[in-house]
Amino acid sequence: MTKRLLPSNAEARAEDAFERLGTRSPHCSVPGCGESDWRALTGAYLNIKCYEHRCAQQGRSTVERHHPAGRKNNPKMEVTMAANDHRVMDDYKVDWPEETRRNPEGSPALRAAANLRSARDWLVMIAERLLAPVIAWLEALEKCMRKRHGPRWWEALGLPNMLTGRGAEL
Ligand SMILES: [Zn+2]
Repeated sequence: MTKRLLPSNAEARAEDAFERLGTRSPHCSVPGCGESDWRALTGAYLNIKCYEHRCAQQGRSTVERHHPAGRKNNPKMEVTMAANDHRVMDDYKVDWPEETRRNPEGSPALRAAANLRSARDWLVMIAERLLAPVIAWLEALEKCMRKRHGPRWWEALGLPNMLTGRGAEL
């Protein structure tokens, strides 16, 4: 069993966001955007926009500067990232211990802990925002292909089974 680094209040923050946004299934209203993460959405029902589209509408940059370990811990470490991703990373940071985030005495142990928490947050963001949608898409594709071409649809289409290497000769 894995131990959580901290009890997360993300569910309570999500509930607050759903109330603020006026819906439990919010998404950016800009056609083709698809952003549906409550952490990256602004406005209210029927006029919800993601941070990036809100920034663009206001003539501001859609990329922002992010301090992965926090300004106090590592002011020189700075990356630019898409505004929506930045909102998500900042939300993860809310669950960090206050002491680690602020590190008032400049403790090297807390600085190292902040670096590791930041690295963990990157991995969580990649899993949630990049991998999860692709996994869901592949599973939806499987259902669609199975329905159209049968349970061994890749053979019906003459495609190689990439994972076993069998039939790799196209
Ligand atoms: Zn958007």
